[in-house]
This record gives sequence, structure tokens and C-alpha cells, in this order.
Amino acid sequence: MHELSITEHLLEDCIKSAREKNASKIRVIHLCIGQLRGIIPDCIQIYLDMLSEGTIAEGARIEAEYLPVKVLCRDCKKEGEISPGHLACPHCKSLKLKLLSGKEFYIKSMEVDIDGNQSTASDNGLE
Ligand SMILES: [Zn+2]
Repeated sequence: MHELSITEHLLEDCIKSAREKNASKIRVIHLCIGQLRGIIPDCIQIYLDMLSEGTIAEGARIEAEYLPVKVLCRDCKKEGEISPGHLACPHCKSLKLKLLSGKEFYIKSMEVDIDGNQSTASDNGLE
């Protein structure tokens, strides 16, 4: 169920930054997900659909990009990419690895509609 709390935070962040840009609607959220995080974009999408109802993110689409797992081998000192299910140096098979990337989770970018009528935006909440 950890996708649920992730999606809650994600939605909060997206709405906050969309408001800062005076966006009236969030259309697409581009995510970067490290392969070691084990996050399934389809789950995020399902939770987002539930949580975003009635917000400016309602109907937003998740576009996810997986980031490779990169390691530095402490034995042969080479960098390499490994698959999450095979944690060994691709060069010398050593298990003494330093993780360089693969646990990321962040918003790469968003596609939003900007409300052209800036004067109505400043009327909100300032009085
Ligand atoms: Zn190695």
C-alpha cells in the first residue's frame, strides 16, 4: 500500500507547484522512478484518480520513466548498471557495490494549463 502515501505527497507537491505557476489544471505529471524503489506507475495512476477528484489535478495522467540502477564496484572500481534482481558487479561479479542511483523518486516536469486571466487569480484569497 505504500503507493497510496506516495501518491498523497505527490499530489500535494503537484498542486502546490501548479498554484505557484497560476495553473488552472494539471494535465500530465512526468515522474522519474529508480528501479529499486519498486513503485508501479499504474498504482500511482489509480490512487491519483481517486485522490485528485475535485482538485485541479483531476484527470491528470502519470508518465513514468524508470531510472537504471547504477553501482560503483569497490573491487574493480568500475561503474556499471545492474538489474534490481541481480546485485553483482557486471564486470567482475563482486558483491561489494556502492549504490550510485536507483532509489530516486521525483517529479521531472508537469504539463499544466495556465489560466490566462491573471487578475482573477489575484482576487483569490488575498482579502
Ligand atoms: Zn567489479
